[in-house]
Amino acid sequence: MTPPDRMHAISPETRAVVDDVLEYARRRALYEDIPLDKPLRPSDLARLAPRTVTPEGIGARRAIALFENVLAPACISTDHPGYLSFIPSAPSKAALAFDVVVSASAVYAGSWMEGAGAVFAENEVLHWLAREFGLPEGAGGVFVQGGTIGNLSALVTARDAARRRLRAADRPMPARWLVVCSAEAHSSIASAAAVMDVDVLPVPVDDAGRLHGDAVARALDEHGDAVFAVVATGGTTNFGIVDDIASIADVTAARGVWLHVDGAYGLAAMLVPEARGAFAGVEHADSVIVDPHKWLFAPFDACALIYRNPSLALAAHTQKAEYLDTLTDTPDWNPSDLGIQLTRRARGLPLWFSLATHGTEHYRAAIAYGIDLAARIADDIRARDEVSLVRDPQLSVVVFRRHGWTMADYKAWSDRLLDDQRAFVVPSSHAGEPVLRFAIISPLTTYELLVDVLDSLR
Ligand SMILES: *Cc1c(COP(=O)(O)O)cnc(C)c1O
Repeated sequence: MTPPDRMHAISPETRAVVDDVLEYARRRALYEDIPLDKPLRPSDLARLAPRTVTPEGIGARRAIALFENVLAPACISTDHPGYLSFIPSAPSKAALAFDVVVSASAVYAGSWMEGAGAVFAENEVLHWLAREFGLPEGAGGVFVQGGTIGNLSALVTARDAARRRLRAADRPMPARWLVVCSAEAHSSIASAAAVMDVDVLPVPVDDAGRLHGDAVARALDEHGDAVFAVVATGGTTNFGIVDDIASIADVTAARGVWLHVDGAYGLAAMLVPEARGAFAGVEHADSVIVDPHKWLFAPFDACALIYRNPSLALAAHTQKAEYLDTLTDTPDWNPSDLGIQLTRRARGLPLWFSLATHGTEHYRAAIAYGIDLAARIADDIRARDEVSLVRDPQLSVVVFRRHGWTMADYKAWSDRLLDDQRAFVVPSSHAGEPVLRFAIISPLTTYELLVDVLDSLR
């Protein structure tokens, strides 16, 4: 019996499909002027791209044309230099091209047995990051989908470790587990707590928005064994604020409580020598995360999750099943056992390839560029009458207000900016006040572009 192999056979038709797709990928990867683009309504898309999933198929040519001409332009390009909302993405060309190779290679990167070469290369990157963060030899981890899964995986490990510690000491389990973080911590911490059915204890921050050890100490003294982890933020998403990690680490170390550093956005700045000082104390963390798809110039989606002592993660996360025994009963390094996942893409490889290609110094310079640009445009904002800074930028996020504007004014301005395809800057709010925010990641974002956006606020 011959298999119905039209989808897999190497025929002239298959070659044409692969060529067409790769040719489009190549075109998109090398766009000189990345279009900003914007979303369409469902009804518009239904009209422009009617029924594409059919019994006989519409053919590769038509499907690619539809994607290129209708669907892709209905997605905002997060790598556009004027994309300044949320956290932009700015994958290096090497990284995004290599992402295609990862797909073409059909690597299963959950276990060493199947993905040794890929896992080895990913570990090269993780160990380099661990050294940059000051973590000891023996630290290691895994690339998971994003910061949300990274934080959840780390906190699950932390609670598991706390349970084991209490059990070993013959102390009672708390009625409710608590995770301590600052009121400015990312929403994914509350989300992780909800998934884990634990409570979050937000601790007050100082006037600059930073969490300090003394406030954490008070929380720990009050709640004792119930606290299984303290989360310090290495660069808040909204403002780029880095907590006083060193003083927090003193407190967690003295009480034997797990310290997790959420550096999804900001920890990349530790690669810049002048910015390193702000992160003092990270070297004491039990776990850290940083998202390569944010400020390490990798494509979506990847979070580097690193543990000081990976064996604690193995104990918490290894999935047990008879069909997996050949994988889990070995001393091999199996990335799936360190986080919440089983099957996994070798999602660290695009970063590995780009780092191998360009070297680490280029990364330091590209991150420093964003920090410098944020400082420069902040000076500009200080010098203008109609706008003012909400806070001095610490990393590459600049938050400011336009005097006299309501949220409706901000929204109308933001819509116009996108309609004109100049930039994507959505209003945000801080302490009830509507504000604007530039998040600068891309080395292609220029001072002139930002000045142009500021000029449009006059
Ligand atoms: C973006 C971000 C997250 C969530 O990361 P995802 O990759 O979007 O899941 C968590 N913490 C901080 C500080 C972030 O900036």
